[in-house]
Amino acid sequence: MTVRTRFAPSPTGYLHIGGVRTALFNWLFARQHGGQFILRIDDTDVARNVDEALQPILDGLHWLGIDWDEGPGVGGPHAPYFQSQRSDRHRAAAERLLVSGHAYRDFATPEELDAERKAAQAAGIPFIYSRRFAAFDEATASHFAAEGRSSVVRLKMPREGALVIDDAVRGRVEFAWEREQDHVIQRADSSCLYHLASVVDDHDLEITHVIRAEEHLSNTPRQAFIALSLGYQLPAYAHLPLVAEPGSRTKLSKRKLAQYLKNNDFKQVMDHGLQIAARIGLAPEADTFNPVIVDFYREVGYLPWAIDNYLSLLGWSYDDKTEFFSREELVEKFSLARINSSPASFDPKKLWAVQDHYMTALPTDEKMSLMMPFLVKAGLVSDPAAPETLATVRKVIEAAGDRLKVAGDILAYADFFLVDSPSMDEAAVKQRLAKAGTTPLVAAYAAALRGIEPFEPAPLEAALKQVVEEAGVKVGDLIHAVRVAVTGKTVGPGLYDCLAILGREKSLARIDAALPLCG
Ligand code: GLU
Repeated sequence: MTVRTRFAPSPTGYLHIGGVRTALFNWLFARQHGGQFILRIDDTDVARNVDEALQPILDGLHWLGIDWDEGPGVGGPHAPYFQSQRSDRHRAAAERLLVSGHAYRDFATPEELDAERKAAQAAGIPFIYSRRFAAFDEATASHFAAEGRSSVVRLKMPREGALVIDDAVRGRVEFAWEREQDHVIQRADSSCLYHLASVVDDHDLEITHVIRAEEHLSNTPRQAFIALSLGYQLPAYAHLPLVAEPGSRTKLSKRKLAQYLKNNDFKQVMDHGLQIAARIGLAPEADTFNPVIVDFYREVGYLPWAIDNYLSLLGWSYDDKTEFFSREELVEKFSLARINSSPASFDPKKLWAVQDHYMTALPTDEKMSLMMPFLVKAGLVSDPAAPETLATVRKVIEAAGDRLKVAGDILAYADFFLVDSPSMDEAAVKQRLAKAGTTPLVAAYAAALRGIEPFEPAPLEAALKQVVEEAGVKVGDLIHAVRVAVTGKTVGPGLYDCLAILGREKSLARIDAALPLCG
């Protein structure tokens, strides 16, 4: 048997972090078994423009390296991969269920159904449709139709016994049939409902393993009933634990951003993202600039594999201690058996740590190609291939080291190297430059800089120490003042690295320009 898994998103306009976890697990399982991973678009109930609402999902998956063997953009032997284009197959299935007696036409009006529901409620018993307006044959159907009624198609669900499935995550799960309603599978206008469509598509696409979020567990009995009634073999099921809110067991939702921002870790990630967004002129639309959505991470320059690696740990573990996996390792080590069924809390701090791990380990050349586009977007670099720019950015990246956590961080570390004169942060000037007594110190250091050979960190440091020693002040007094003089602010790479990268001429020009601000 060739393993075939699928990710079946609705075109919602964004890719949810929880959706990626589902896609990733399907992808890993398929890759591990040398099988196929299919992308199917569940667009039956989508009113909006499907292409527009799908693009962020396709872009997000591409960015994350989750490639599909069949689906939009790549086609495949089972095309089309859009549910809305398979409606003939769904209608034919509804027809077959009617013929085999597993479904019936129901002519009840919404009011009649409502009356039954209310009566059950009043009697304190679960509502089960009486099938009073059910037509199992043509004569009854014509009779109801003659009364001017329209009909929907409902499943004739079993009322006794149970469905038992062997879920790869949850083990044996039993669903009592009496809990199931006679679900509608086709509307009066002959369009089919999602659950029928999904089962028929899974069958037609020869899906062997349905790996999906826990919220679909309750759909399994009706879907299995449809599948079995159509004579299909049931796929294997694996219901993944919820991707939950930080510190809670409730599903992570993009709509609850305001609430999540009360969590410090969440807020830090968001604030850091907002700072980068502001520099690249990104209008952080409340809708997508949200750490629950993949676009957020792409836009501020996280590493896609850091996201994948972190998400692989949401519900799955290899041995309770290994946290970092290469792509190949994850494909090899992943297993459905080691997925936990309890909700997996999304932890922004942990994601940050995973990102930090991969970013720190990234070779400078790769950092260069990730970070340069941010400098271009921010208007700091116009020709990213210019040798002088390349050399400066490389030196900044090397000097900043592990202080660059995401690609967008380059903006805060490189900006003052790439402009003619840095913008001076008022608070920094006041605190560090305007302090009484800085003028002679800074001037003395400037004088020393004129003669330093080579203009490199070690001699630059030695010269500074000599100046402070002679003046009998603390090293910090001069370091902080010179830093503000040459960079305009208090954060950045080490001071001696900054001076060396700027070079003698620019360093002196900036110090001279800042002298009038000194106290
Ligand atoms: N379109 C469904 C969703 O977005 C897929 C459900 C399933 O995987 O069966 O959740």
